[in-house]
Amino acid sequence: MTEGSILINNGYILTMDDRREIIKHGSVYIEDGKIVELNKTDNMVKRTADVVIDAHHKLVMPGLIDTHMHLAQALIRGCADDVSLVDWLKKYVWVLQGNFTEEDGRVSTELCMAEMIRTGTTSFLECMIHSRYGFNGIAEAVEKAGMRAALSKIIMDSTGYADSEDIMYDGMIESKDECLRETEDMYQKWHGNAEGRIQVWYGLRSLGAVSPDLFREVSRLAREKQTHMTMHLGEVVDDVRYVRENFGTNLTGFARDHNLLGPDMVFAHGIHFEDEELEVLAKTRSNIAHCPASNTKLASGFAKVPKMLKAGVPVSLGCDGGPSNNTYDMVREMRLAALIHKPVANDPLVVSAEQVIEMATLGGAAALGLSDKIGSIELGKLADIILVDLDDIGLTPASNPVSNIVYSGSGYAVDTTIVNGQVLMQGKKLLTLDEEEIKRKARFHSERLLERSGVDISPKWPIR
Ligand SMILES: [Zn+2]
Repeated sequence: MTEGSILINNGYILTMDDRREIIKHGSVYIEDGKIVELNKTDNMVKRTADVVIDAHHKLVMPGLIDTHMHLAQALIRGCADDVSLVDWLKKYVWVLQGNFTEEDGRVSTELCMAEMIRTGTTSFLECMIHSRYGFNGIAEAVEKAGMRAALSKIIMDSTGYADSEDIMYDGMIESKDECLRETEDMYQKWHGNAEGRIQVWYGLRSLGAVSPDLFREVSRLAREKQTHMTMHLGEVVDDVRYVRENFGTNLTGFARDHNLLGPDMVFAHGIHFEDEELEVLAKTRSNIAHCPASNTKLASGFAKVPKMLKAGVPVSLGCDGGPSNNTYDMVREMRLAALIHKPVANDPLVVSAEQVIEMATLGGAAALGLSDKIGSIELGKLADIILVDLDDIGLTPASNPVSNIVYSGSGYAVDTTIVNGQVLMQGKKLLTLDEEEIKRKARFHSERLLERSGVDISPKWPIR
């Protein structure tokens, strides 16, 4: 529940407004979930608040927004390290996820959210909820934890992936009718629910797993409902081959022909676009969720982020999942996003700390269709705010907190997380979730899941 009023005093405030103004020794006053006053602490209207937070030595910034992640993969963190993508999917990830129970889905969601709140993420886009994870349990967990989320129900009607046919693990297969019916049910039940914090989207699985007709049907349904869509696109080079061989076009050509371009679409990864396609993405305001950790770990390639930014493509950031990252820490994701493009471009000026923070806040808000509500600290916006401890040893001295948080930070320097005017963490202590209980349940369920699915992920070295 939203607290009545919160006053944050004496912080170093990154507003992320149009001018990117920073307020030193600044205050934010929040009432009924919204930012009501923002000023130098000395110039604030004198008033009391239900919760007063001293932000001395703290960076006060918009909450981080993760635009591509898998809730169910927190429980299988570290299950497939240093293996090829096909093995990663077929021998580990799909087998484990294909053995999930609804209880596993809920436990994984809680574990994932505990990590996200601890590390400063306030909103996230879960890209594909399989019915076996239990959509209701997941949405209830989000409601209770207090986070803001777009929850996408998985959409599929075939068992391929990119240009490989029939490779999906049995437990991961759903029929078109099941997918559409459950999305409709969940949309009716949860869209706009939990004080407006939950949206229900369509999560198109990927090329090869969705037929051309279903792509068109879903884009029509999503637009009828005015909800959004997301899908993995151009993560693997096989995607390019698939559209070239079957449709005689490129990735954006395929997306255009199936009505998938627009501000209501988030393409995850988007590595293998040609240069000339970037203009199409920019013109149609189609969002890209850049996932640098996942793309490097699976050797998928380097998204053309410097060129995307130059072309005006809306870019945001995503942690992807427990087996591909293997964290849900957006601060570490920011660091990687700022680092990996420099050697590729042979230019240390590309993808600056400032641009990376923009991706993680404003870019994320645009991807979620919430630019008028979140992504910056401005009057009238919803209070999704984090406080980072600049007294953290790894951030000291913090002469330039903007570059410090990107290049020196980890999410565990986040001290306070506020969503919709509710304090979810203060002094690094979770307030809406029981961290110890979640860890205990996660260990228990992970052990059972590994046993049930027969997947061995013990270390390669001898153990005695
Ligand atoms: Zn993914």
